[in-house]
Amino acid sequence: MDFEPASFVVNLRELKLEQALTLLQQGGYPLPQQQDASPAAWLQAVIDGLCDLSLRDALTGLTNRRHFRAVLEREIDRVARTGESALLLILDIDHFKRINDTHGHESGDQVIQAVGRRLSDCVRPMDTVARYGGEEFSIVLPNCQPTFGLAVAERMRVAIESRPVKLRSGHEVHISASVGGAYAPQWVRSSVSLWMERADLQLYCAKTEGRNRVCLEQAAISSVSAEEKGMLFGVSASELQEEPDDE
Ligand code: GH3
Ligand code: MG
Ligand code: MG
Repeated sequence: MDFEPASFVVNLRELKLEQALTLLQQGGYPLPQQQDASPAAWLQAVIDGLCDLSLRDALTGLTNRRHFRAVLEREIDRVARTGESALLLILDIDHFKRINDTHGHESGDQVIQAVGRRLSDCVRPMDTVARYGGEEFSIVLPNCQPTFGLAVAERMRVAIESRPVKLRSGHEVHISASVGGAYAPQWVRSSVSLWMERADLQLYCAKTEGRNRVCLEQAAISSVSAEEKGMLFGVSASELQEEPDDE
């Protein structure tokens, strides 16, 4: 039986202990032995495990979409407060449908897991790698200077294409990925959706320019939208777009 970890954890009133333990086991969480812990400490360990599980994607163990958006929210606050630069990358496996069609869905899953591991190996402990959707990953790099951003995005792209993924079937598949990235506008309180949209636009460029490449938005501050200026100054985007009075 499949459980949806997030919805399961939220519905604590209906928590069935056996199901919770099965979930934790499937997620690879070591539970304290009941005889070694007080009942309260044991139950707390179960709840802590479930909370952690609810932040993760079941297939890869990476941060899930919901939690990633919360991480981005916090990062936007930090950039607005400190003026530090932070980079958001969106990475999408190229022609992934072909892998499913040729090798089957389970092999496709293995490729997604392998990509997740390779991405995790490319980042610093302070960065967050998430599986954002099917074969799409998002990475946020706090305190990331523009010169470093391009290098790290390129390192990810190379880590994915440099060697084939060995499938459990014995076959090997060569893969590549396209990466789009955008910096959070400094000193401006942007929104998760606007930041994602910018990175997504760059991903679209990487795809249309031939795939297996990185496209990053240049100069963060010059691309602040009217909507974001409104968030900073407390006026609406339409007011900002209006022509100033002559007198
Ligand atoms: P592009 O280079 O333009 O990104 O092409 P693509 O084939 O990678 O993209 P497309 O959006 O056409 O196909 C993505 C496929 O990923 C379709 C969907 O069935 C598959 N997919 C989505 N989630 C999963 C998953 O969890 N496991 C597997 N195996 N396949 C998935
Ligand atoms: Mg794809
Ligand atoms: Mg996709």
